[in-house]
Amino acid sequence: GLSIGIVGLPNVGKSTLFNAITRAGALAANYPFATIEPNVGRVTVPDERLSALSKVFTRGERVPPIIPTFVEFVDIAGLVKGASQGEGLGNQFLANIREVDAIAHVVRCFEDENVVHVAGRVDPVDDIETINTELILADLAGLEKRLANLQKKAKGGDKDAREQAELAEQILAVLGEGKPARAGSYDAAIPKDFGLITTKPVIYVANVGENDLTEDNDYVGQVREYAAREGARVVKISAQIEGELAEMPEDEAREFLHDLGVQESGLDQLVKVGYETLGLITFITSGEKEVRAWTIRRGEKAPEAAGEIHSDLERGFIRAEVIEWDKMVEAGGWAGAKSKGWVRTEGKEYVMQDGDIMNVLHSS
Ligand code: GDP
Repeated sequence: GLSIGIVGLPNVGKSTLFNAITRAGALAANYPFATIEPNVGRVTVPDERLSALSKVFTRGERVPPIIPTFVEFVDIAGLVKGASQGEGLGNQFLANIREVDAIAHVVRCFEDENVVHVAGRVDPVDDIETINTELILADLAGLEKRLANLQKKAKGGDKDAREQAELAEQILAVLGEGKPARAGSYDAAIPKDFGLITTKPVIYVANVGENDLTEDNDYVGQVREYAAREGARVVKISAQIEGELAEMPEDEAREFLHDLGVQESGLDQLVKVGYETLGLITFITSGEKEVRAWTIRRGEKAPEAAGEIHSDLERGFIRAEVIEWDKMVEAGGWAGAKSKGWVRTEGKEYVMQDGDIMNVLHSS
């Protein structure tokens, strides 16, 4: 699944948001995995297609369980101004942030004289730059160490090491200008084991009070401007409201949102934007036994997608029966869909589409 790391200055609302996430996760059922670390919260990816399909495959009293995909949020504590100097960023911090696919950068966009701001005033752009500078410095320090190693190996005649050293130098030049690594273009793809943080896409999360949810305040405007220059997305939320929403049954939460004048909870928006940012799509397996969503990258072919379900299905992939989810709903089940000729047979080169229902035919 997709994992998103939550960063931001102290007192911007990270814990409030993270608590809302863990509470939302505690209410949702049907997780395929049980144990989870204390700084990791799981929320399901909201997907109304699944409930529609569950109805289609209900036989009498037997309602097929819905197994949604989920997104993991990782609370990445310990980022303050100057963190990358002196003691350096803690190992735990680096280990946590290196694992995530994307970063949700929480920015304080609310005024409250009872909540101390670390810099003494609310200034979202200054806050963003403080955090981004720390991340860039962390990458600089890590990559300089690696470069020294690579150069040693290159001297010994290792050609791969020489190429990687050149790439590292190109990246260091970008970081040295105070820019994140993702801002540069390079001759080669950056290897994962460079362990860089600033290659990861960032979503700015503007945390506002409940009165600013419908109309942007000036702070949110500043965040949007900053993000637009970077080509990054912004999600406006109220961390406090998310906490309240997480405690409510679904229909009550919907009504509460409606009263606030918003369509969708901030968490749901964040999950959606995370998906879009990373180019992820969902395909579905569906029948009387269960209705289940799976996450894949856009552009993946049918065998790879089958591999998400089980590696045997990828290895033994012969062909797949595929139908769009809404066609399945209209047809009322596999038999109806087949008799209408709506179930296609797709081979190994088929590129999966968001909302496809797939049944894999495989050799064992
Ligand atoms: P963290 O240090 O980034 O984890 O920040 P916290 O989540 O602990 O929040 C710091 C303080 O700000 C807490 O007292 C929260 O209740 C408060 N807070 C968080 N979000 C909001 C908000 O949208 N409006 C107001 N007024 N206070 C908030």
